[in-house]
Amino acid sequence: MKITSVTASPLLVPYTSTYHWAQGVINGAEVLLITIETDAGITGYGECIATPNLAAVRGFVEQAGALCLGADPFDNAGLMATAYQVLFQALATCSAPRFAGQILAGLEMALWDVMGKAAGRPVHQLLGGAVRDHIQYFGFAMGDTPEEVATAARDLAGQGIETIYIKVGHGDAYDLAATRLVREAIGPDRRLRVDANEKWTPIRARRMIAEMAKFGVEMVEQPTPCDSLAALTQVQRSSPVAIGADQVNFTPEDVFRTVTAGAGDLIVLGLHETGGITRFVKAGRIAEAAGVDICLHGLYETGITTCAAHQAAAVLPNLDDANQYMNHFLKWDIISAPDLTLQNGALPVNTRPGLGFELDLDAVARAAELWVSEQTG
Ligand SMILES: [Mg+2]
Repeated sequence: MKITSVTASPLLVPYTSTYHWAQGVINGAEVLLITIETDAGITGYGECIATPNLAAVRGFVEQAGALCLGADPFDNAGLMATAYQVLFQALATCSAPRFAGQILAGLEMALWDVMGKAAGRPVHQLLGGAVRDHIQYFGFAMGDTPEEVATAARDLAGQGIETIYIKVGHGDAYDLAATRLVREAIGPDRRLRVDANEKWTPIRARRMIAEMAKFGVEMVEQPTPCDSLAALTQVQRSSPVAIGADQVNFTPEDVFRTVTAGAGDLIVLGLHETGGITRFVKAGRIAEAAGVDICLHGLYETGITTCAAHQAAAVLPNLDDANQYMNHFLKWDIISAPDLTLQNGALPVNTRPGLGFELDLDAVARAAELWVSEQTG
């Protein structure tokens, strides 16, 4: 089997409402749909997130895709190593392993989709087999105000979701109000996690975590800036609340450094950071060897990434029971199956061949038109 074409198509899938996090706001998932066609008639799909600039990402993705033409999709790891060497070592002096992961992720997952479809097996079986029947997700509560966040949290808890997650890092008054109102809304028994997205220094983190502990917060995610593992380690050592290590980790090597430093009680990581499934599983295995759990991270993505990450997560015994879920923010998805609506906060392990989704071509066309219309204003 040979790869005959690789395309990267810009899409925009709008969110139902404005997405707020400590570093800014987002109004939709801007992605590149990766389509890999083969001479065997098998087509694989993946996606790259298009941040921070779609034209720049597209340029790199198309260059990497061209290197795959004529190759066997089952040479996935070798193709990605070659692409990394050509794009980011030979020409970029090894300066961008994190950005490289974002570029290669969509290609790598599309190759896995081809491989699974060719084998007639879900990708998790090619990775060694699932070690669980379901994957559990947290309920991500969003809103323009603390009151709206609390209302969303109440709805999610009412759907049977065990763990509720909110964004903080918006200022001390907002953060404490949101945490208090959410705790009141979800009652004493649900687990509550907050994510400060790098907005706190260690001294501020110590003060805020002490206050938030009063509201029964279970975990604080990435309180300090991503470029200092030392700061996160310092916070972790003094914190009465578990610490999640998110933006300090992109590569498997980052995870090795984090677990060696003891900087987090949980690794938070996704396919768009690691460069796809193979290196995500490698990172998960490193955490597993250190005795630390790993949680799926979500970005501005569609059901394609949810399904791809789901395949990788199924094989990890140290997967957390509250993974990041982003699909409820999408006004509509570009896959028609499976239904990604959470049932009591969980989705069954997907046993369809490949990454296990059906693309909705009408929705893809709509997302392509929306992306074009946004460019022309
Ligand atoms: Mg985070």
